[in-house]
Amino acid sequence: MLHWILNPGLAFNELLLGQRIPKVTLIQKRSRVPSAEKTFIPCPHCNTLHSGSKWTPQNNTAFKNWFGLYCDNCGKTIPCVRNVTSLILLMLTFPVWYWFKDRWKEKWLEVQKEKFSRPMVFTQPDFKWWYAGLQYAVVMFVGMSLVNFLLLNEEFTWKRLAGNAITWLIGGLLFGLIMKKLSGNNSTRQRNKNTQSLT
Ligand SMILES: [Zn+2]
Repeated sequence: MLHWILNPGLAFNELLLGQRIPKVTLIQKRSRVPSAEKTFIPCPHCNTLHSGSKWTPQNNTAFKNWFGLYCDNCGKTIPCVRNVTSLILLMLTFPVWYWFKDRWKEKWLEVQKEKFSRPMVFTQPDFKWWYAGLQYAVVMFVGMSLVNFLLLNEEFTWKRLAGNAITWLIGGLLFGLIMKKLSGNNSTRQRNKNTQSLT
């Protein structure tokens, strides 16, 4: 969560892709099922416990969540964490988007209603560790390069940039491998039926 708030590279994910993470995530402790299946996202408006697998690429709900995560039980939005860089960008561009945000939100809510009326898939896609690692590497590379050269005023050289790229490529692949190990994805399919009944 701290990473989401501080890394400037994630402003891209948040503002352009509409990728969001909720302020509150509940994780069942001491349960041996893979992490994706013991993760729940509560709606503060209607107290529904949503499956953590509800906002995923295969449901077409992982992105475009600019106004928050849509609760298909009460139609309101679940509050999300805000990245500092995107907060600053939003404040600076306030006079531009302020005028059409209400109409945009109305339209967005209609789209969500339609999206969430379709049957949801709660199975986890096969975890591609190298893909997750590369995604992480790109985000960290962009974010840390911005921090190094713009915030910390380090002298820009192509060599340093290339150094950053290599560091984060290795870091990203390691991250992917660790995530694979932690998620224990091999045994998910059997238990998917259990999560189906969750709303
Ligand atoms: Zn709700």
